[in-house]
Amino acid sequence: MRQYHTTVKETKEIDKIICNRCGRSIPVIQGVPREDVLEVSKRWGYFSEKDNRLDEFDLCEQCYDEIISEFKIKI
Ligand SMILES: [Zn+2]
Repeated sequence: MRQYHTTVKETKEIDKIICNRCGRSIPVIQGVPREDVLEVSKRWGYFSEKDNRLDEFDLCEQCYDEIISEFKIKI
């Protein structure tokens, strides 16, 4: 025999993603963004001036295209 008890677990679900560059909102419906985005998560290392800092941001596709168009070496 097994006895059970009921628990309530709190979960976080994304409602929208906001582009850090232009501020535009991208709706997320049932966990799926309506547009693709670039998600960046960077933990800076010891040999940087941001020792161990975690930087996270999102970019919409249009901002991504504008930023990479400025690269001297194309991707
Ligand atoms: Zn944007």
